[in-house]
Amino acid sequence: MNCPRCKSSLEEETIKDINVSIQVDCCTACGGKWFDKGELAQVEGLIEPIILEIRKIPNKTDQLTPLQCPSCDSQHFMQKVEHRRDKKVIIDYCASCKGIWLDKGELEAIQKENYFVTIGKLLKWVALGD
Ligand SMILES: [Zn+2]
Ligand SMILES: [Zn+2]
Repeated sequence: MNCPRCKSSLEEETIKDINVSIQVDCCTACGGKWFDKGELAQVEGLIEPIILEIRKIPNKTDQLTPLQCPSCDSQHFMQKVEHRRDKKVIIDYCASCKGIWLDKGELEAIQKENYFVTIGKLLKWVALGD
């Protein structure tokens, strides 16, 4: 699997918590992370945000660049989803496989409340088309 943004190959990274450990696919070049649907289901219950070494979100132009889903075979682009609390945070969401791509910085931007829970809420929001 390759990074949808910079095309570097993604490396598996394990996120550990007391209750759970999950593997996400991480781009060491640009710092983005890919969460697929099964992974997200596991992390929804986490309490502490874990990924913190992030300083700023990408600029608007970068964020609005259409990205292809790194997981699906098809060539379709992911949906752009604005975070409901911080519209500067634009998340890429694949409607087909329900995966989410977070650019470096987006994690920090949304981790002030439980970031995993936030993603869970976001997913429900996306699913409901609110
Ligand atoms: Zn990358
Ligand atoms: Zn997909």
